[in-house]
Amino acid sequence: MAEAEKDNLAEVEIRYDRVLYMTKTEAAKPAAQQKACYTGLPSGDILGLARELTEMDTSVNIKITEDNSMLLYILSFLPVLLLMFLFFRKAGGGMLGNIGASKAKVYMEKKTGVTFQDVAGQDEAKESLQEIIDFLHNPQKYTEIGAKLPKGALLVGSPGTGKTLLAKAVAGEANVPFFSISGSDFVEMFVGVGASRVRDLFQQAAKVAPCIIFIDEIDAVGRSRDSRYGGNSEHEQTLNQLLGEIDGFDSSKGIVCLAATNRPEILDKALLRAGRFDRQIIVDRPNLQGRLDTLKVHTKKIRLAEDVDLRKIAQATAGAVGADLANLVNEAALRAVRKGRKAVNQEDLLVSFETVIAGTEKKNTVLSDTEKRIVAYHEVGHALVAALEKHSQPVSKITIVPHTSGALGYTMQMPEEEKYLKTSAELLTELRTLVGGRAAEELVFSVQTTGAANDIQRATALARNMVTLYGMSDALGLMAPATVSNQYLSDQTYLDCSQETSALVDKEVQKLLGACYSEAKKLLSDNRSLLDEISLHLLAKETITGDEMMAFINPPKAEEATEE
Ligand code: ADP
Ligand code: ZN
Repeated sequence: MAEAEKDNLAEVEIRYDRVLYMTKTEAAKPAAQQKACYTGLPSGDILGLARELTEMDTSVNIKITEDNSMLLYILSFLPVLLLMFLFFRKAGGGMLGNIGASKAKVYMEKKTGVTFQDVAGQDEAKESLQEIIDFLHNPQKYTEIGAKLPKGALLVGSPGTGKTLLAKAVAGEANVPFFSISGSDFVEMFVGVGASRVRDLFQQAAKVAPCIIFIDEIDAVGRSRDSRYGGNSEHEQTLNQLLGEIDGFDSSKGIVCLAATNRPEILDKALLRAGRFDRQIIVDRPNLQGRLDTLKVHTKKIRLAEDVDLRKIAQATAGAVGADLANLVNEAALRAVRKGRKAVNQEDLLVSFETVIAGTEKKNTVLSDTEKRIVAYHEVGHALVAALEKHSQPVSKITIVPHTSGALGYTMQMPEEEKYLKTSAELLTELRTLVGGRAAEELVFSVQTTGAANDIQRATALARNMVTLYGMSDALGLMAPATVSNQYLSDQTYLDCSQETSALVDKEVQKLLGACYSEAKKLLSDNRSLLDEISLHLLAKETITGDEMMAFINPPKAEEATEE
């Protein structure tokens, strides 16, 4: 059947000698006028056809007439065959007999080619790893004195902060081979498989020592054996094998085991005890200088235009990790190529930064005029509150061009400097800025729209943190009923308190948000003419800079004189 029609199928009937099918267009007609088409059986791959049809998102009826009993036979086993296929593919062995013997997916690099120069920032981590490198260069220096050699170190930090990169750099600096495997590769359905893979890995490594063994996401095998995080005998066996291997290898041969995790709190205590991964090296999110260095490392091989100011980009990307920055630089380079330029300029970097946070512009979303007006007022609501407040970060850009992230517009604020502490006044300003969008909608159009959903969510989360973590509410005072459950992955918290306290928390959060909302609304209604002017300007231009907005708020001196 024609490829083009495949998406348009309403019903398919596989017969012993042909395939009958009806398109959706036909099926929509009255029954008397419907016409079915047919085509010959595809040569050979009936199973493939049937699978494709069942996977398709149309209601496909597969009827097989009894004439073709062989086909019926095959098709009735199809689900079973598919399941078996998937199952064995996952087991990775190919054949049942192979499962036990199958090798783990170990990647070995003779020379990683990565050195500490490729890792920006992370000076503390580098310092801690320096000793390991020295030891790999020169084990006898340590054995002569009788020092026990370090067996391993655990790199702890958020995803993308460069843990793998650091491990590779250690191997590169020490000029030894690098074995890497992911913790999840050990996780298998069958008891004993994971353990045999661990054994395998250490055997392979022993053959080429000195070397580095790197286990990424060690939490997949190393999570605590107590029941809170779930466990089973396969998991326990694998972990036991890992512990055994770590104890067993002779570190004087020069094997060092590095592991990475972003969930150190769930690791089994046995893994962390002295003599195993007793060194924990924190790989932090980079600060301003770190981000600047990371950008420098990644733009080293990229031709930059004169106007590029990496410091500005570093300032804008507070909270970004190394992987984000590497991605940003690459996006910018791709954009420069698309635009037919020979070098990356500042605009490329800024646009790709926005692409990373908001997705690309979605050209074909057409908003009605009313919607556009609401979106414009909403965004200016945010921006104006921020601009009129004392403790806010300056607005750098406002746009009402829809983006692929789903945002119909957004207001971007850029911090002037790196902040490590936030005062409650600043947090309250942030709250008022967040609810400023909804406040403008209500003030001007007396409507509430779904566009504020994300704002409200963020405001609620922030208010909740103020109440439950930072001790910033009157009713609860200095008590912190919440605990951060996972500091490297997300900032999720859980409440650990009585139901009454929990109810009180909700009430406080509501009170805080309510107060901020009325304050934002009052601020906007006091400055209604500014709100109107800027919104109309934004409607006309679709994207304006923070400076353009500030020109409305603090008009240049000359104009002020003529007005008076
Ligand atoms: P993790 O293992 O912590 O999740 P990776 O080491 O895989 O993170 O980092 C992914 C990529 O991000 C690296 O390949 C590198 O390009 C970039 N990167 C991360 N941190 C840094 C850094 N400190 N300096 C330079 N590049 C970095
Ligand atoms: Zn908003």
